[in-house]
Amino acid sequence: MYKEMGISEEVVRFGEEIADSLKERFQKIDETAEYNQMKVVHAMQVNHVSEACLYPSTGYGYNDIGRDTLEKVFADTFHTEDALVRPLIACGTHALGIALAGNLRPGDELLSPVGKPYDTLEEVIGIRESRGSLAEYGIRYRQVDLLPDESFDWEGIRQAINEKTKLVTIQRSKGYQTRHTLSVAEIGELIAFVKSIRSDIICMVDNCYGEFTERLEPTDVGADLMVGSLIKNPGGGLAPIGGYIVGKKEYVGNAAFRLTTPGLGKEVGASLGTNAPFYQGFFMSPTVTASSLKSAIFAANIYEKLGFAVVPNGTEERHDIIQAVTFGKPEGVIAFCQGIQAAAPVDSYVTPEPWAMPGYDSDVIMAAGAFVQGSSIELSADGPIKPPYAVYFQGGLTWQHGKLGILMSLQKVLDAGLVEL
Ligand SMILES: *Cc1c(COP(=O)(O)O)cnc(C)c1O
Repeated sequence: MYKEMGISEEVVRFGEEIADSLKERFQKIDETAEYNQMKVVHAMQVNHVSEACLYPSTGYGYNDIGRDTLEKVFADTFHTEDALVRPLIACGTHALGIALAGNLRPGDELLSPVGKPYDTLEEVIGIRESRGSLAEYGIRYRQVDLLPDESFDWEGIRQAINEKTKLVTIQRSKGYQTRHTLSVAEIGELIAFVKSIRSDIICMVDNCYGEFTERLEPTDVGADLMVGSLIKNPGGGLAPIGGYIVGKKEYVGNAAFRLTTPGLGKEVGASLGTNAPFYQGFFMSPTVTASSLKSAIFAANIYEKLGFAVVPNGTEERHDIIQAVTFGKPEGVIAFCQGIQAAAPVDSYVTPEPWAMPGYDSDVIMAAGAFVQGSSIELSADGPIKPPYAVYFQGGLTWQHGKLGILMSLQKVLDAGLVEL
């Protein structure tokens, strides 16, 4: 079949050798998935998820039993008091935006103790001037960068915290930066430190790409709020839209008053037809995340063996599903992305090319042949065409498909004359 798909025998053989060497690693990932599968099913059972929960609601959405029960399922899975899980949340940035805007007031300070946040949040916060940003409402922002060895700058953080500090935002995943992704244990240490200075500071974690990669989540180690996107891990590839916010009841409620309006909060917001795919996607999420982790580890080991720099490396523990591969030249990034596209179930026949996308300071190439537009729990890759010419790869709803994508990328990189096997 691989031959029929356009992958040569030498690529298949090279891939098989690597895959064989990863069996023990994959078994550990399956054990984590098994644990997390129990967490989700248990939460569904104790909350009496019933057939009626899967039906759509319309209009105001009062008494939407499916929506309200789903929020209890999220809250119980992540061990929090409350949850907001809605199709009205357009994406991860929107979820983070309302969690921030709902909980900050004029005069408050927001602190990021882990360096610069994800690109799209720069405009939410007002780091880059933007209409409607938190800065326009008189909310100040402070940032403490990680130290050169990527550890926390404890002294810097202590000095940055003052009586105005209201909320600390901690991004788990590296996003498009070169730092490592924070483990849940590291996040726990950081939260404990912040709380030791002032226990009333709200600690929020941007959990994008991190859900179910470990047994514990940031809410198990003290996070007051945790936020993510449903077209990443916790949507399991089935959620067609949406975001979630879980945490302390008061803070989740504040975010809901921003999502809808003061007074209405969580009471309104019809789920339309999203209840069924939200439940089923959350149910699938632990194993889908495991498939993405396996695909990322396979990619790391393939490209590491060929001499490219990979982050994380082939043997490191994983705390999210993102894999970076540095090619050092544009042709590598382009060939890799074209391979990922050629392996897609949707739009496999198109060839992605770099272009000047709005919001970026260089040309960018993106490969996405997804069932849900832009979904990055599905097999996808992208990279800016600028030094160090790194590509960011993520997803794979099934390990078998992730493997195909990586083999196809390798075939294209090989065909472009960039490596020899
Ligand atoms: C994806 C992501 C977001 C939100 O992005 P959207 O594209 O708006 O869903 C925020 N933070 C991190 C770290 C992310 O990976």
